[in-house]
Amino acid sequence: MSGDPVVEINAKDVGLEKIASGKVREIFKVDDETLLFVATDRISAYDVVLENVSATDTCQGSNSHLPTHDSSKNYHILNPSKGISGKGALLTQLSAHWFDLIKTNIPSLQLHLISLSLPPNIPPQTQPLLAKRSMQVRRHPILPIESIVRGYITGSAWAEYRVSGTVNGMRMPAGLRESQKLETAIWTPSTKAEAGAHDENISKERAGEILGEEVAGRVERMSLRLYEMARDYAEKRGILIADTKFEFGLDKQTNELVLVDEVLTPDSSRFWSAESYVVGQSQQSYDKQYLRDWLTSTGHKGKEGVRLPEEIARRTAEKYTEAYEKLTGKTWR
Ligand code: ATP
Ligand code: MG
Repeated sequence: MSGDPVVEINAKDVGLEKIASGKVREIFKVDDETLLFVATDRISAYDVVLENVSATDTCQGSNSHLPTHDSSKNYHILNPSKGISGKGALLTQLSAHWFDLIKTNIPSLQLHLISLSLPPNIPPQTQPLLAKRSMQVRRHPILPIESIVRGYITGSAWAEYRVSGTVNGMRMPAGLRESQKLETAIWTPSTKAEAGAHDENISKERAGEILGEEVAGRVERMSLRLYEMARDYAEKRGILIADTKFEFGLDKQTNELVLVDEVLTPDSSRFWSAESYVVGQSQQSYDKQYLRDWLTSTGHKGKEGVRLPEEIARRTAEKYTEAYEKLTGKTWR
C-alpha cells in the first residue's frame, strides 16, 4: 500500500449527494435505488477512528492519548489525515472477490453489489480518487442487527465465557480454551449501535424480538451458511476465519434477504494464520487484532483522538495486504 491515505471525499468533488458517512465508508446517492459505496482509508477499532503519528517527529509529548510507554517521546502527526493508505481499495476489492464466490456457491442469495465501475458523470479529476475503492450498490432498508458468526472462541465471546460459561447468553460446553475451535459455528448477533455508541451482544431471543422470529431465523441460517463456505475456502489458503460480521437488508418487493455492506474483510472479521494457530492463547492475526492489541496494551482502548504510530500503521497495512493476497491468490499492486 502506498501514497497518502484518502480519508475524506467531498460531495462537491464527486458531484453526488452524500447521504451518510460511516466510520470507514462514505455513501453517495446515484439515484433512488442506487448508492455509491466508497471505502476510505480510515481505520477504526473499538468503534473509534484512529489517526496516524510518526514517532520520529515532534509535537506535544504531553498529549495524554499518546502511548504511555513512549510518553517521554515527542510526536507529531505524520500526515494531517487519518488512515492507512490503500486500505479502502483493498477492502472493496476483497469484498468483490467474496461477492463473486458467494454468487457461485450460494446463488439463491441476493447481493447488493451492482458494479465496481463508477456511475456516469463523475468529474474526471475525481475518478482516480474513487477508482478501486467504490462500488455501486442497490439501496435497501438495513436490518438493525449485526449478524456475527463465530467458529472459534475469542474476543468478547471468550470474555463472557470465562465469567459465566455462556456466549451471548447461550450455555457452552465446559472446559473450552481460548481460541478453541467450536464444535459447530454459532450465531451471536449484536445490536447495531448509533455513532458514538458500542454494539451490544444480544441473545437469539432478543434478535427474534427485534427482527421478528421468521426473519431472524433466515438471517441466522444464511449467516451460518455464508460463514461455513468462507471458512472452508479460507482454510485451504492458510487462513482461519475466527469470526465475522455480516449485514443484511430486505428487498422491499420480495421480502428476501439481501447481503449488504462489506463482506469477509479484515475489518469485519478476525483472520488467523492457520500455520501458527495454537489453542489456549491469543493468536497471530491478519486483521485489526494487531491494532486492538496495541490499543489495549497501551491503555488506549476505546479512547477518542488516539493517533496511530507509523509503525503500527505500516504493520497493519502489511497484514491487510497479506490477507488479501492469501485469500485471492492475487498480488496486491
Ligand atoms: P464499522 O464498519 O466500523 O462498524 P459503520 O458500520 O458505522 O462502521 P461504514 O462501514 O463506514 O459504517 O459504512 C457502511 C454503512 O452503510 C453501514 O451503516 C451499513 O449498514 C450501510 N449499508 C451497507 N450497505 C448498504 C445498502 N446496500 N443500502 C443501504 N445502506 C447500506
Ligand atoms: Mg461497517
